[in-house]
Amino acid sequence: MSLPISFEFFPPKTLEGAAKLRVARKALYSLKPEFCSVTYGAGGSTQEGTFGTVGEILAEGVNAASHFSCIGATRDSVREQLAILRKMGVKRLVALRGDLPSGYGTGGEFQYASDLVAFIRAETGDDFRIEVACYPEVHPQARSPEADLQAFATKIRAGADSAITQYFFNADSYFRFVEEADCIGVHVPVVPGVMPITSSTQLMRFSDACGAEIPRWIRLRLQSFGDDSASIKSFGLDVVTQLCEQLVAGGAPGLHFYTMNQAPASIEICRRLELP
Ligand code: FAD
Repeated sequence: MSLPISFEFFPPKTLEGAAKLRVARKALYSLKPEFCSVTYGAGGSTQEGTFGTVGEILAEGVNAASHFSCIGATRDSVREQLAILRKMGVKRLVALRGDLPSGYGTGGEFQYASDLVAFIRAETGDDFRIEVACYPEVHPQARSPEADLQAFATKIRAGADSAITQYFFNADSYFRFVEEADCIGVHVPVVPGVMPITSSTQLMRFSDACGAEIPRWIRLRLQSFGDDSASIKSFGLDVVTQLCEQLVAGGAPGLHFYTMNQAPASIEICRRLELP
């Protein structure tokens, strides 16, 4: 099957983590990703870590997208960072608001990701392809599903080319979101973000933080496996492969894997899907 796939990494914090990520990337490149992206600011990562990993991916001959969050940023700081990315040869950005630890307020000169998208377009024209985030199960801070959908539309109208979703385990939420976006005139590709399930505690922690729902039956099955990581992985592969099959059958324009810097689960899911 031919379908664009992409992989997301976070910048490793240690030399050992960086070495492991290089090995994981090499394995994942065999799947011929359209691009690999690197998160920014999440979990306390720095600009240096993100740009460093992006630079490595480019040097390995693969298209790299830099995530770029604007919370706490100023126009000058964004301008400087865009200049660095341009010089590095980066052609693709994932433009985000980002999150600050609670109690910090928003700060900075950008309130929403749509402000960042508009600024990048005004400053750099069409130099970058811009992706934005979207939330089939609704962003946790949104006033309402309708307001969140409108916020997504605003980001696209500000100049974003396409979107990557937060992960979810309920395909219907994705199809409904795409349909509703279409109804309000948003026709860009919306690529599902796919989270392979490899660890129960990690998945629960992330999902609580980002508002992704783990259906009760998945949560209970995972809990029932306790520390039996082989059963968790085997169940996770079945569930996520089936989800991907539904997404692809329903017309998803690609799959974006949240790899958590690990290759095996994404590779196995793609193998079962007969990708690429
Ligand atoms: P926005 O689109 O600005 O939306 C934030 C909130 O404001 C939403 O509730 C929205 O409904 C609301 N809103 C937007 N515009 C308006 C408006 N005009 N009026 C009223 N309300 C409005 N985080 C990181 O720190 N680093 C990363 O690298 C990173 N990568 C990510 C990649 C993907 C694919 C996804 C899905 C998320 C990623 N995140 C990352 C998490 C993201 O930063 C958080 O979810 C953040 O809380 C929202 O970012 P956003 O860009 O979606 O914000």
